[in-house]
Amino acid sequence: MIEDKYLTDAITSLRVNWQDPGVGIVAAVLVGPHGQTVSSLSTYEGEGRFSHAEANALKLHFQWLGKVAPGTKAVVTLSPCIQLNPETRVGKSCTEMLLENGISQVHVGHLDTFQLPSIAAYQELGLQVTVTEDPQLGSICRALANLFGQYVDRRQPGENPWPEIKKEVGFPPFGK
Ligand SMILES: [Zn+2]
Repeated sequence: MIEDKYLTDAITSLRVNWQDPGVGIVAAVLVGPHGQTVSSLSTYEGEGRFSHAEANALKLHFQWLGKVAPGTKAVVTLSPCIQLNPETRVGKSCTEMLLENGISQVHVGHLDTFQLPSIAAYQELGLQVTVTEDPQLGSICRALANLFGQYVDRRQPGENPWPEIKKEVGFPPFGK
């Protein structure tokens, strides 16, 4: 499926930029109705806060292509956040931002059950979420999501633990 091609591109971009201390662990691609794409990664913004990949991709989209056209889809390594942990995020939740910009279809590499328990729960909020059926893409995105366990264990208020974690584990599940 074409969405998995974009998911592969997102993972590649994350892998290439993995050791950049300003980069987080999530990648997103916005795919317009004519196949035009804008992609971005989550970034560290200081004081323990991150700008999420979806928010960064939307920001770039506004700069380059203007308003989001109807039919635009989002492809993300991890399903969008809702309202949890706003103290570690810059701005609104990605679910809110996507819906506000008319994006209701999201293809993900892994369903983040810390955010919402199921596809049906996203659907209740207005997002149609599909999860990759490609086992390799799924396992990479699951391994990435599992790193949040280490993040939660090590996080100190106002700090960014990712550079240290990434140095230790490399790019999961491949390592260094
Ligand atoms: Zn988010």
